Amino acid sequence: MCVGNATLRTECPICYGTSISYCISNTDRRKGLRGEWDLWICAECGVSFINPTPSEKDLYCYYSIYSPNERFDFTLGKGSRYPSLRKLYHVFSGDVDPRDFIRVPKGSRILDYGSGNCGYLVDLYSRGMKIAGAEILRYIVEAAWDHGYEMTLVENTERIPYPDSEFEYVYLIQVLEHIQQPHAFFDELRRILKPSGELYLAVPNSRSIWRSIFGAHWISGWFAPFHLFHYNFRSIDKLASAHRFEILDFWSSTPESWFRLNLKAVIYKEENRLDITRKWLDSLPYLFIIMILLRTFELFVREKDCLVVRLRKNSQ
Ligand SMILES: [Zn+2]
Repeated sequence: MCVGNATLRTECPICYGTSISYCISNTDRRKGLRGEWDLWICAECGVSFINPTPSEKDLYCYYSIYSPNERFDFTLGKGSRYPSLRKLYHVFSGDVDPRDFIRVPKGSRILDYGSGNCGYLVDLYSRGMKIAGAEILRYIVEAAWDHGYEMTLVENTERIPYPDSEFEYVYLIQVLEHIQQPHAFFDELRRILKPSGELYLAVPNSRSIWRSIFGAHWISGWFAPFHLFHYNFRSIDKLASAHRFEILDFWSSTPESWFRLNLKAVIYKEENRLDITRKWLDSLPYLFIIMILLRTFELFVREKDCLVVRLRKNSQ
């Protein structure tokens, strides 16, 4: 059993403002962990965060059930073999896929931090990028090594296991919200990037219209206790500018899979393993109907569920 004993924060962990207050309590509806976690919000930068922050020991305990050991397929999937069709599909699905928007010269040195199932890494490697990965799960690192990919094991999230000025580009897709010490982590991002290096972030957007509509059922974003922070543009700007990063571009998109997950949380209120529980909403006809309705509605919406931010490391 995971037991928390961390102390309550009295200031915002991002902007250090003291106007923070209790916001909502959440249970884990996706992986089935027992417990309840309090979220607080900062009135100054708008970030919300689990307070008290779970300890390292607790996080290790939570992640032991996060994803079971699995075998990987390192061959190029359909999305890699038919990139134009993939991009077209993502226009409708709203999926945030770095292969669709990262523009880098061939031969660039790139870091895929939090490589997961390595799908993006394998694709970009096949396109001639000098890409490396970093992962906290040892079985993923070993599987990548077995297939000849460059990958390091993250043993401490406050240190990125690569030398100074190593990369021209770094991307983190649904990773930053899991990081316990964002300021220490941004120091590390600055250290490993070359001068004027670029950073791509994708995080759940705490200003999304769907957070207001779904409330406690916004489990794609809350995802307690794994999402420690819920950022918006303003809090990302506060965090990044403190480490001399400049925002070049940003946009948001709602993946239809996230929207369906939240709908299931509304319909099946007693269900707490929604990541693996298939329902009628997951069948193809409903999936396509929801996708079309969602895209049509979001033509009139500015703040959507997944915020993507492109930043540059300033030399000053
Ligand atoms: Zn703040």
